[in-house]
Amino acid sequence: MTLFDSPAFEGHEGVHAFCDEKSGLKCIIAVHSTARGPAAGGCRMWPYASAEAALEDALRLSRAMSYKNAMADLELGGGKAVIIGDSRTAKTPALFEAFGRAIEDVAGKYWTAEDVGVSPADLMHARTQTRYVAGLTGHAAASGDPSPVTAEGVFRGITLGVRRALNRDLDGVTVAIQGVGHVGAYLADKLHAAGAKLILTDVNDAALAEVAGRTGARVVAPAAIFDAEAEVFAPCALGGAINAETLPRLSAKVIAGGANNQLSDPQIGRAVYDRGLLYLPDYVINGGGIINVAGEIRAIERGEAFDPAWVELKLARLMQTLEDVLDRSKSELRPTHEVAGEMARARINQPAL
Ligand code: NAD
Repeated sequence: MTLFDSPAFEGHEGVHAFCDEKSGLKCIIAVHSTARGPAAGGCRMWPYASAEAALEDALRLSRAMSYKNAMADLELGGGKAVIIGDSRTAKTPALFEAFGRAIEDVAGKYWTAEDVGVSPADLMHARTQTRYVAGLTGHAAASGDPSPVTAEGVFRGITLGVRRALNRDLDGVTVAIQGVGHVGAYLADKLHAAGAKLILTDVNDAALAEVAGRTGARVVAPAAIFDAEAEVFAPCALGGAINAETLPRLSAKVIAGGANNQLSDPQIGRAVYDRGLLYLPDYVINGGGIINVAGEIRAIERGEAFDPAWVELKLARLMQTLEDVLDRSKSELRPTHEVAGEMARARINQPAL
């Protein structure tokens, strides 16, 4: 199969491959759409087994960013960068400087930020070569860690989902959280403060003990989280948490969490709906982080300081979009992921409101 026939390529404006022998950089920058504005999405560093696997991931992730940015009503299209390499052993300042030059080559069509394996410190090296870097700290336009804003959006989404599915507020509701990393830990704190009971898991025992200690949560083994008796299941670890094996084990009535790509495939979204579970589409409920990053891009472009009030306005509008998805799903008797996908595709080529 050629690149242009690949299902993952569909709709892409451009795919850029870069190689810098001196630093060892091999990276791909995929630009899915710039119709709403420059493409924006993080940079992932991963030891891909092959260049084909890296390309596939870049394409899949950049298209997902078009969906996420459109649903968050940002003046941004979708793009993503992947660096082929092991983030534990292969990171050097020179590698990220070369990555910065690659971004500069794309001439403002793509803004980068952090993703798996890449930290703000790494991006500071890229920033020496290009201005198209966001998600940093230490300057007036900087937006810092996006995770608290992501968690706030997920918290509001869970509140909405519980109201819709269970007709109650969060006080006394049991939420099972898979993964207490950046997003999951902030989410646990917010849910605990709202009176929810928590069941937590993580493969990182130290992080798990710390979050459970301060929230009075019950802890279960990673494989047991799908069997936990809870009203809400919040995937906040890696993708694919909802699949043919795990879905029948869930007792929850609401699936709402921060992880990307929660459904293993679109068919499982239909199965979730047929079982009567309310699924809050991941790229809508977890859009708070990219809104925060967009706040930084906007501030840099305007030569202004970062404005938290603008971020709050966009987050509130995102929650209204989430309500619209749930309303349409209910009135059209269709799964939420189908409705959200249709709305996102319609918005991708429209200017922001
Ligand atoms: P993170 O790496 O800080 O946290 C992930 C946590 O999941 C870690 O503590 C890890 O140990 C745990 N984990 C991994 N595999 C697990 C398993 N099998 N069972 C239980 N726990 C497991 O990442 P994060 O920034 O908190 O992001 C979490 C998810 O949310 C990811 O899917 C990410 O793509 C998505 N997301 C994050 C943001 C953000 O602002 N950070 C924004 C949008 C989406």
